[in-house]
Amino acid sequence: MRLGRRGFLRMAGVTAGTGLLAATRAQAKVPQATEEDTLPGVLVDTTRCVGCRACEAACAETNQLPAPPEGDEVMKTRRDMSQTAFTVVNRADAPGGGDRFGKKQCLHCLAPACASACPVRALDKQPTGPVTYDASKCMGCRYCMVACPFDVPKYEYEALAPRVRKCTFCAERQAEGLPPACVDACPSGALTFGKRHVLLEEAKRRIYSEPERFVHRVYGEREAGGTSFMYISDVPFEALALPAGVPEKPYPSLVAGALGAPPLVMTLWPPLLMGLYAFSKRRDEVAAGEQGHDQEDHHG
Ligand code: SF4
Ligand code: SF4
Repeated sequence: MRLGRRGFLRMAGVTAGTGLLAATRAQAKVPQATEEDTLPGVLVDTTRCVGCRACEAACAETNQLPAPPEGDEVMKTRRDMSQTAFTVVNRADAPGGGDRFGKKQCLHCLAPACASACPVRALDKQPTGPVTYDASKCMGCRYCMVACPFDVPKYEYEALAPRVRKCTFCAERQAEGLPPACVDACPSGALTFGKRHVLLEEAKRRIYSEPERFVHRVYGEREAGGTSFMYISDVPFEALALPAGVPEKPYPSLVAGALGAPPLVMTLWPPLLMGLYAFSKRRDEVAAGEQGHDQEDHHG
């Protein structure tokens, strides 16, 4: 993330008033059980991913982004998403030798912190599932980048009319009854699209059927209150660039009470953002440390 601490503090201080705006609009709400039954999701089974990166190519084509780099060299360093790459596949060592691969993109949280932090609702959770972005509403404050616990939104710093960029969950394709392009392109069955609650059951079935193999957890079942993209793996999720330590409580609910009391907003909104900033900074440091470690492993 290129938003430095000083820039962040200036932004938090100068625009503290926008907290009032945020307080007066509806916060991204935590879905109820009945709604969750209808929400779509994607199960990423990293044990089935072959690292072909067909998902990256399909995503780039669908979103009219530059084609992803070719060749196996790209797997030697951990990659992050960017304003021109909405999904990236990273490599980890498999137990007993070999490779594991994990695709990363916006996880389309059930109660997205990005949408909750956006004072003008440029990012919004659709009732149909995707967290979408409307550039015409965006004022460029980049609160969403600070708030996202998965470090997803990227900003077009060099553009004349910069936008926040991230995976859209192929909302337009879904509206036409099609699965996301990455799922469609995956040749190995690593990606399954369907109702989130059905996929969660399937994820647990796979784990329980081979308990000696899988990590006993579905990443995304509870992180940040639950996400639409969920992962199962036989290597630690952190090895596949999924951040550890993401709080389980939905981010909007952490602040809902405070934001509902306007007199407190001016004082509470900046500290909340500082907390989120501290978490994201720590996450970046851990990621940088792991990347250095990966590179040492490759050179060693
Ligand atoms: S992963 Fe980040 S950008 Fe995506 S919905 Fe969740 S908070 Fe928003
Ligand atoms: S297309 Fe499927 S198998 Fe290929 S890298 Fe993406 S998730 Fe893995």
